[in-house]
Amino acid sequence: MDFKVLDEKVEEFRDFGVELLSKLIELKAISPDSGGEGELKKAEYLERFLDGFEVERIDVKDERAYGGVRPNVIARIRGEKRRTIWVVSHLDVVPEGDEKLWKTPPFRAVVREGKIFGRGSEDNGQSLVASLMAGRAILELGLKPKFSLALAFVADEETGSEFGIQELIRRGIFEKDSLIVVPDGGTPEGNLIEIAEKSILWLKFSVFGRQTHASSPHKGLNANRLAMKFILEVDRKLRETFTAENTLFTPPRSTFEPTKREKNVDNVNTIPGVDVSYMDCRVLPEYSLEEVVNLVEVVKKEFEKDGARIEVEIVQENSSPPTPEDSEVVKKLKESLRITRGISAGVYGMGGNTCGAFFRKAGFHTAVWSTVDNTAHQPNEYCRIENLVNDAKVFAVLPFV
Ligand SMILES: [Zn+2]
Repeated sequence: MDFKVLDEKVEEFRDFGVELLSKLIELKAISPDSGGEGELKKAEYLERFLDGFEVERIDVKDERAYGGVRPNVIARIRGEKRRTIWVVSHLDVVPEGDEKLWKTPPFRAVVREGKIFGRGSEDNGQSLVASLMAGRAILELGLKPKFSLALAFVADEETGSEFGIQELIRRGIFEKDSLIVVPDGGTPEGNLIEIAEKSILWLKFSVFGRQTHASSPHKGLNANRLAMKFILEVDRKLRETFTAENTLFTPPRSTFEPTKREKNVDNVNTIPGVDVSYMDCRVLPEYSLEEVVNLVEVVKKEFEKDGARIEVEIVQENSSPPTPEDSEVVKKLKESLRITRGISAGVYGMGGNTCGAFFRKAGFHTAVWSTVDNTAHQPNEYCRIENLVNDAKVFAVLPFV
């Protein structure tokens, strides 16, 4: 296989890519959860460019959205093998945020200095268009890749993936032996592949004492003081116990951070009877979240001996097994990067969750990769046209290696 031909073909799609991405930015696809109308207009527009692909649209009902559905578009190219490499990108974007911080209109693309500015340009328009450029290049050359290639343009990534990836997984759209690439995160050099994520656990602590006047503390039980002691003790015990280090991650350890604190009383001279606070835990895959919760329970019991009552509630939890570094999808991605860009890529882990976690949880080996300056969700979000084209080259080669 002469990869140079493929490379040159993708190059020919450069202007097409810039134009398409610019147009997509104007088709504001914000989730109803964030006050928008959903992704239907964008999906329908995209479908015009899918000639030659086997196309399937999976509409998931959502009365709140324009057209009453959240669309997911799948475009396939059959390869010699039935086994499929998926490139999964998302149609939806986040709102513009504070418009005053934007130098250009957020939903009108501005091309300047080799960049395309606009909401959704990097997240996730760049990868979406790059994957489409790759597919079109393969089709135009009339090539049959070794593996089948499927592009998925999914809904609802920014607000939970209920109408997107999660639903597609439930419906069995992804064949068991699928190789999944999620190009929705990465580094400016494009030389790192994300293969693992820390588990996320959000805990809510409600400490109940007895409210009273501040001049007579003996008549009450100060929930504020108890909460502070409790949180510090939980914090200490967790950090002392979960000490494993994993150099895939920065920082290499699990983190346990007391964060939000709810307002207790309105005035200074009242001893609060209730205190509510939260902790953000990011736990290495070496540990189960159950172990963390169990330890918190032990500390809680210790504190309740003094007459207080403490409630520990899990507000959010999410964990997924890492994708092995020697898994096929990672090896193929590395090989494509080497062939197209001479990059010898490494692997890393992330402190937060991407939608790759849904795939990993469902048992799919998943590589999260793209070449981005990380301007997602920020004012003046942009995509570098170089990254758009170079990532397209990687996707084009992927089903051939
Ligand atoms: Zn994204």
